[in-house]
Amino acid sequence: MSQKTALITGITGQDGAYLARSLVDKGYRVVGAVRRSSTLNLPRLVSLKVAQEVELKTLDMQDFTSIVRLIEEIEPNEIYNLGGQSSVQASFQQPLYTGETSGLGPMRLMEAVKLVLPEARLFEASSSEIFGLKAKGTVNETQDFHPRSPYGVAKLFAYWAVVNYREAYGLHVSNGIMFNHESPLRGMEFVTRKITATLAQIACGGQQTLMLGNLENARDWGFAGDYVEAMWAMLQQDEGDNYVVATGQTHTVKQFVELAAKAVGLDVEFEGEGLEAKGLDRKTGRQLIGVSQDFYRPSEPDPMVGDASKAQEKLNWKPSVNFEALVMMMAQSDLKRAREEQAWY
Ligand code: GDP
Repeated sequence: MSQKTALITGITGQDGAYLARSLVDKGYRVVGAVRRSSTLNLPRLVSLKVAQEVELKTLDMQDFTSIVRLIEEIEPNEIYNLGGQSSVQASFQQPLYTGETSGLGPMRLMEAVKLVLPEARLFEASSSEIFGLKAKGTVNETQDFHPRSPYGVAKLFAYWAVVNYREAYGLHVSNGIMFNHESPLRGMEFVTRKITATLAQIACGGQQTLMLGNLENARDWGFAGDYVEAMWAMLQQDEGDNYVVATGQTHTVKQFVELAAKAVGLDVEFEGEGLEAKGLDRKTGRQLIGVSQDFYRPSEPDPMVGDASKAQEKLNWKPSVNFEALVMMMAQSDLKRAREEQAWY
């Protein structure tokens, strides 16, 4: 069989890097779409040793012509749309940009596929944020929607665009309704990486205090390396569909902090509640963790846990890394980095 070509938008992000690694290992020609900018953001691809094995092309998700041109040029068999503004927190500050890139962007991509290469298969990185307020307890693909952030609103637009392009034009497009997925390559704007990176610095003698928002918020956190395998599996099916991708377990931000602190060798004791909560070093009494209103959000989804039984049944997918192993992996990676940085001074 001839070599397949995959186009990944957002290839410089966490999921883009893991997916690129996986597809190169599967024998694909991988083309990554990057925004035109003076500096290329390649550290994640470099760290997974795949930067030299992918081709990078300029693409602006707000420019329809550039999408059409790229699809015409490389004729991808599979397109993975991982691009767009991906932080819920940032979407409260940049709602319109988020809507442009994460809502309208996917529709532009599908419109281009419809016009230029309708046989191409497309994966859309949807999000558990589309469930929001309707999500009570365990949720699967039949759940109602009520997004609680501009990010969730944009993702819900894209979700329905995928369903519509499938129904109206018969495109092979799938929504992966991804619950939170993390890794040592996660951006610092997400709470998990903020926690492991800051605690690792503190463990290496840093004098900062880790300031967080609501410690009682819970998420269903999985490992990004597992989640990209679900993306690929969706595009190997006979038809496009919607799939929840999740671990089926939730933990609070506080539980994440407690485990991460242990993993970097800190002994933290919590006292107080809500905005008054504090994490103290049990030995010295120094405050290591605090809570600030600045990191609370105007609205949050209801606590929910993902039911990925459809993905397990149809895609034969299940997560391989549990919560404890994920926290340990991230904490150790940041500890190694912090020690290396320390060695410079
Ligand atoms: P999200 O689920 O995609 O929004 O992923 P995040 O990692 O940004 O946030 C996960 C949860 O952690 C949310 O409920 C946040 O409100 C909560 N959280 C608490 N403190 C922080 C913080 O300092 N930064 C971020 N990003 N989230 C925080």
